[in-house]
Amino acid sequence: MCLVTVIPGKPKQHHINHTLSALVSQLLPFWRGISYTRTAHYRTGRTVFMALLPTVCDTEAAIQISGFAAHNHTYFCRRCLLPINDIHNLEPDTWIMRDPDKHKELALEWKEAPQARREAIYRDHGVRWTELLSLPYWNPIPHTVIDDMHLGYLGLFRTHLRLIWGIDHEKNSGDGLCPDTEKQRKLSKASLRHLLNEIRANTPTLQQLLEEENKKVICSRTTSIANPDMLPPVARPAQAFHFDKDQEFEDLKSRLLDLNARPPSFTKQENGADDNTYSSQLRYGKLKRNFEEDELSKSTMMSWPHAQLEKLCKEYSIPPFDTNNLVSLKKEDMVRRLLLWAKRRDSSLKQSSPRAVIGKDLLKEVWADMARSILPSWIQPAPPKWGIPATGKLSADEYKVVCSISLVITLIRVWGYGNREEPQSRRYQMLLNFLDLVHSLHVLFLRETSPNSRAYYKATIVKYLRGVLELFPDVVLSSNHHLALHVIADLENMGPGHARSTPVFERINHLLQETKKNGHLGQVEATMLVSYGQMANLQILLDQYPELREEIKEALAVLEDIEREDHRGM
Ligand SMILES: [Zn+2]
Repeated sequence: MCLVTVIPGKPKQHHINHTLSALVSQLLPFWRGISYTRTAHYRTGRTVFMALLPTVCDTEAAIQISGFAAHNHTYFCRRCLLPINDIHNLEPDTWIMRDPDKHKELALEWKEAPQARREAIYRDHGVRWTELLSLPYWNPIPHTVIDDMHLGYLGLFRTHLRLIWGIDHEKNSGDGLCPDTEKQRKLSKASLRHLLNEIRANTPTLQQLLEEENKKVICSRTTSIANPDMLPPVARPAQAFHFDKDQEFEDLKSRLLDLNARPPSFTKQENGADDNTYSSQLRYGKLKRNFEEDELSKSTMMSWPHAQLEKLCKEYSIPPFDTNNLVSLKKEDMVRRLLLWAKRRDSSLKQSSPRAVIGKDLLKEVWADMARSILPSWIQPAPPKWGIPATGKLSADEYKVVCSISLVITLIRVWGYGNREEPQSRRYQMLLNFLDLVHSLHVLFLRETSPNSRAYYKATIVKYLRGVLELFPDVVLSSNHHLALHVIADLENMGPGHARSTPVFERINHLLQETKKNGHLGQVEATMLVSYGQMANLQILLDQYPELREEIKEALAVLEDIEREDHRGM
């Protein structure tokens, strides 16, 4: 490895060109070859050729170094000219790819132009000059690599957790639907984009898709409507997230259900009550209205006739009246159950479900599963209480562990097996959608690639993105979602991503930041270079003179400790 320069701070926009020009001036002669009259291994000398091809960095740096536009620019993509308004277009065949010759022409024009023309070129084409374009072989479009660590762990996983689902450690888990009318407007814009893509694709099932889209738009605007049963299951607001769901009823049922009781019909005959008279029906109608609309006390309900209470219980399928078994309960038991049922109904009606999918209850379950899990020694566990501000931001590795291990374990348990809802229900579909993301990133990070694995990745990531648009109508896809489809070309042209992934550079950055220095620019670089040189020389001496090891035993113990430090990614 050859460290050419470390840039202090973050230069703005094209100001990075001053640093890049120094690099380019060193690289250029090596394209034609530099002849050394003598080298360490060759007494008669050698000609050395060198070229810079892949430019590996996070999105922010890639845009700056390679002269592309920011992630929110109309032409946000560094591979194609898809306008940002059309970012929900998931059909790569319909994207117009950037032309390297045209790109270079515009960049050269930008370089020579006055400020106003420069701004116009950047606005209309999303192009700036970069000194790297002085390298005759360098093509900014394929050579600006999409880094899989920033794309996958800090991009797709992070966006799914923080933005698409949302984390709220103070409230219970919500269903990811937006109850806020202000944000509903954003939702219809996102839906329309999706609709536009479907029309463009013009599939044979277009009509069906349009009908579904229409339903979805209506549903997403009516998440608080009185009767969610009218909606297709996937759009229904999820049930309040109770892990001891129905436990209260189950307890009551097991304690109070008397299977030997006489059928209610006998009771009625013996009591001489006649349920079918007109006045009885009128009275029942009035009681039912009271029960539905008012907050009733126990004493009021105790004054109602036994038969009418029983009828109410049956009508609302309140356990144990939710089966065909003939049961009879005392008045007091029925009143208690009816009041409990009304309390649950009122709380679910009054409280609109929160937007954030990961709430305090779900976090508690995930943390508990993490404490119960034993991870292999080579996997560094995520912070035990992630998701709360005190824990701070998660690193790329921590997002990887949280999303591909911890959440998979807990969500399958809680939303999958623990979920009594139908497979088409919202939570179940959210689980399948998340697993599509986990699958696709697993394949993206494999240390080998093949046409089959790339086809699988493409199918899964497209399924995931379509799922996000369907399940979360208020979400607008980001540039990372779009780049997740371009990354297939990198896999095809340059092989699996680990050889050009950034964790190693992030660790070296960290190492440089951790190194003690006095901040005297001009001296820092020399001090660091001397330190690295001394370290390398010491290793050579130790290898050449084993007896030296004995004499500096204590110092070697410290040196070995330093070597044992975390070197993942190196
Ligand atoms: Zn693109």
